[in-house]
Amino acid sequence: MENKVLGLHHITAIAGDAQRNYDFYTQTLGLRLVKKTVNFDDPQTYHFYFGDRIGTPGTLITFFPWPRVRQGIPGAGMATEIGYSVPEGSLEFWKDRFERLQVWHDGLETHLGERSLPFQDPDGLGLRLIEAADSDTRTAWETAEIKQEHAMKGFHTVTLTLNNIKATARILEEVFGYELLEKEENMYRYRTHAVEQAAFVDLLESPGAPRGLNAGGTNHHVAFRVKDEKVLMAFREKILARGLYITEKINRDYFYSLYFREPGGVLFEIATDNPGFMVDEEVDQLGSTLQLPSQYEGIRAEIEEALPTLHIN
Ligand code: ZN
Repeated sequence: MENKVLGLHHITAIAGDAQRNYDFYTQTLGLRLVKKTVNFDDPQTYHFYFGDRIGTPGTLITFFPWPRVRQGIPGAGMATEIGYSVPEGSLEFWKDRFERLQVWHDGLETHLGERSLPFQDPDGLGLRLIEAADSDTRTAWETAEIKQEHAMKGFHTVTLTLNNIKATARILEEVFGYELLEKEENMYRYRTHAVEQAAFVDLLESPGAPRGLNAGGTNHHVAFRVKDEKVLMAFREKILARGLYITEKINRDYFYSLYFREPGGVLFEIATDNPGFMVDEEVDQLGSTLQLPSQYEGIRAEIEEALPTLHIN
């Protein structure tokens, strides 16, 4: 198990207004802000990480909020929907909540054999709450309004829209160790048996779909999880051996990363469990203070000045 891809690590998307993004994910959805930092390549932009209590890989959605970003368009070569696991029987609670808080949502539906509720965040990002067929034993982060019986436990799946699934499926199967579990019309569900949760990837084959535009309200990349840097670098060799470009190892402070574009056009990352989010904050303090990578500490005042003010509740 140790040298395998361990399901999803995090998914990163682009938002518009930082406060609106923070409020939606922490208040409306009840996730925990586990890290408030900046985009390491663009330090005048926040980078938010929302997840469970300790930021366990497989629970992490991250955002770059760009206040004046143009609206993106979901399409081929992109992750187009993020599926979160919720407890059995909780979808009515969520549907009522979304109606009360005026969150855009569809009706309850059965999707790949599971009850689910599709919805969108305020930037139009496509999400879905799913009562997973297999029991999910993860403990969710709780808020005053959202307790364990309803709370989002972390990722269940991610949907990639592709003109043709073949080359992407080969990466999942031959490199990442996933296998085809089921097919419903043009939707192909893959899973890994290396982990119990965040173990699915759904490929939606849509031959005529135009390419997506990666901007506000769309996903930037999907990160898969490995144990440590040794496994990470072994995967680097496997990707190179297939003739694909892949980056050098990059230190993201909370994990180490590699990035490559899979042949269907989706930007994939492979990210390690180590060192995790407690490297610069105690568990109880996670997300409370702006954390900067060491190269930016010297210009902290300028960065704080340039970032939009964020009211933390
Ligand atoms: Zn990432």
